[in-house]
Amino acid sequence: MKQKSVTAVTLGCKLNYAETSAILDMLLQEGWQLAEPGDRADLFIVHTCAVTGQAEQKSRQQIRKIIRKNPGSRIAVIGCYAQLDPGRVAGIDGVSLVLGTTDKFELAHYTGEAGSPGLAPLVVVSPVRDLDVALPGSSMLCRPDKGRTRAFLKIQDGCSHGCSYCTIPNIRGRSRSVPLDVVLERAAGIAGAGYREIVLTGVNIADYRDGQTRFPDLLRRLEQVDVSRIRIGSVEPDLLDLDLIGTVAASGKIMPHFHLPLQSGSDRILKSMGRHYDTATYRKRFIQAVEAIPGCGIGADVMTGYPGEGAQEFDEMYRFLESLPTAYLHVFTCSVRPGTTLSRQVARRELRTVPHAEAASRASRLAGLARRLEQNFASLSVGRSLRVLFEEGVGNPDGTVRWSGYSENYLRVDVDLDPDATPDAMRGSVHEVLVDGVGEDLHLTGRLLS
Ligand code: SF4
Repeated sequence: MKQKSVTAVTLGCKLNYAETSAILDMLLQEGWQLAEPGDRADLFIVHTCAVTGQAEQKSRQQIRKIIRKNPGSRIAVIGCYAQLDPGRVAGIDGVSLVLGTTDKFELAHYTGEAGSPGLAPLVVVSPVRDLDVALPGSSMLCRPDKGRTRAFLKIQDGCSHGCSYCTIPNIRGRSRSVPLDVVLERAAGIAGAGYREIVLTGVNIADYRDGQTRFPDLLRRLEQVDVSRIRIGSVEPDLLDLDLIGTVAASGKIMPHFHLPLQSGSDRILKSMGRHYDTATYRKRFIQAVEAIPGCGIGADVMTGYPGEGAQEFDEMYRFLESLPTAYLHVFTCSVRPGTTLSRQVARRELRTVPHAEAASRASRLAGLARRLEQNFASLSVGRSLRVLFEEGVGNPDGTVRWSGYSENYLRVDVDLDPDATPDAMRGSVHEVLVDGVGEDLHLTGRLLS
């Protein structure tokens, strides 16, 4: 009997990528095979995201595009957007199967029942339950285009912080952690498979807890795993304490890079958002980290257009951001999510929404600032050498190959190499690079030292 083929597209966060790998791994154990890139697949998985209104829209666009381009394939839509709005997803013509955030791990059991193209879709979306978070399967399927460079390791799921604008707790439940022994076993498996970097993923990873083991304890245990690099995903500012900063500062494996979501630089708005820190605390933790960890790169999420944000609050945020040596900014405009505290406050007219045009203009001002901050931080590395894990090489018109990868503090670095002068196994190897400039795309440029 012909082996059935499967492929997947993943939207959203690194956690979704780790989970897609685990789900594909389970299907392979059930006799499915991965479709070659560009080949037709019997089953096409769309792993969705719903963190913002824009993310939902992107999910719908992807679903429709995949249905158009893959006539005859069964389309399984899974994850956060399927959990948040299963009816709307099932209503998209061509969808065969809709699975929520907990049901998606049972995909292998539903493939037989999934509606064939043209038939009504099968919808299985259970209420969010605080299920075990340890991913079934091995969750480290290789990405052929990136070789065995970085693997995502899920250590935690859900969140109990309860920020007023956030829909994630409604979709993924409260904070839960993968048992320590499972995390260590998975990390050893990833190292054994030849990956050079482990990226720790979850929703609120620094909230990790297994008995007496807290996040810094877990990191110290992971240091014993035979892998070159361990990268921390997003850390909530209230959880970036001296123990965590000290653990990273003392480590040769944990990368000097934090993604520290700020959201707003106005204390009044931070309070309204229900965030667990004020600007003084954020600044203190930021400075403690950059002083303790040489070359540390700290990036941040910022959100503008939050209901109640006036010109004064926006200026406070702008000046606050200007005052910190941030490595990069991810700029979002606030979207009022259904089922959140914020949506109820807006409905009760306790908070006034910011006109779309005004929010868009503020976001564009922040994007300009983001580019300036990123340029400033990148240029600090000119004339210095950085250790870079190379991921991919693309041919240049002049016959050289542009190899790219991330430095330890998460700067993108490009090196142009003559194919004859290229070290063996460039993909997935770490090399010392002497930085000689910052490109238009804000990637660093340089030459190999080793
Ligand atoms: S910390 Fe806040 S914004 Fe982040 S996932 Fe938790 S509730 Fe959402």
